[in-house]
Amino acid sequence: MSGTITGLFSGRLFTFYMPVTKEHFLELRNKLAREGVLLVAVSKMQSTEAIQLLYEYGHRDFGENYVQELLQKQEVLPPDIRWHFIGHLQSNKVKYIAPFVYLIHGVDRLKLLIEINKAGNKLDRRIEVLLQVHIAQEETKFGLNEKELAEILSPELLSRFTGVRIRGLMGMASLTDDSNQIRKEFGMLKNLFDHYRKTSAGKGFDTLSMGMSGDYTLAVEEGSSMVRIGSLLFGQRSIV
Ligand SMILES: *Cc1c(COP(=O)(O)O)cnc(C)c1O
Repeated sequence: MSGTITGLFSGRLFTFYMPVTKEHFLELRNKLAREGVLLVAVSKMQSTEAIQLLYEYGHRDFGENYVQELLQKQEVLPPDIRWHFIGHLQSNKVKYIAPFVYLIHGVDRLKLLIEINKAGNKLDRRIEVLLQVHIAQEETKFGLNEKELAEILSPELLSRFTGVRIRGLMGMASLTDDSNQIRKEFGMLKNLFDHYRKTSAGKGFDTLSMGMSGDYTLAVEEGSSMVRIGSLLFGQRSIV
């Protein structure tokens, strides 16, 4: 299932440990694709060589959590990578990723959406985002509650957002072994997603981002269309 990879990357000979083989990676990705689920490879705190390897397997969607790290990687890696920002984004850092980011998953407050909208208008682009909903039991996780979500998705407010396109919702389930609890939380998010898809605010929704290494099979069963998987592909996170 796994092995040590040796190869030439960016002109340097490199050896590193990669838990997932090409065969297993493509098998997982294609299996998800057949169910209509896009795999985002979460490469935070992984080397550019490891990203390059999956790139050579034909993968283009990568997820990062930290602005500085993303900027460093984006600069040296191929320009056709679709960078997903999945971390907690500070308003004052939006401008750095706005020109190239493919999808911002974690919009968890109105203030951040306003900031992204401003950056989008300035660049004359609609920056694509997901609204992050708090579905876990832990207080520590970020996300909008249902009331805050409803406020953002009110037609009066939405018509002012010409620099963003809201493509759907994102959520993180509780960190627990209780699969019923996880299923319940993902199910809640899917219900909200379906609810808003029937309204004018959500009629363009096409993306429900839920599921990580430990819970993606449950998420897919509950209706996810995008999973964010890191350690299962890359192993333990190390450095940059
Ligand atoms: C780190 C991270 C992931 C990936 O986690 P793994 O357990 O390594 O698959 C997914 N989503 C978010 C928001 C993350 O921060």
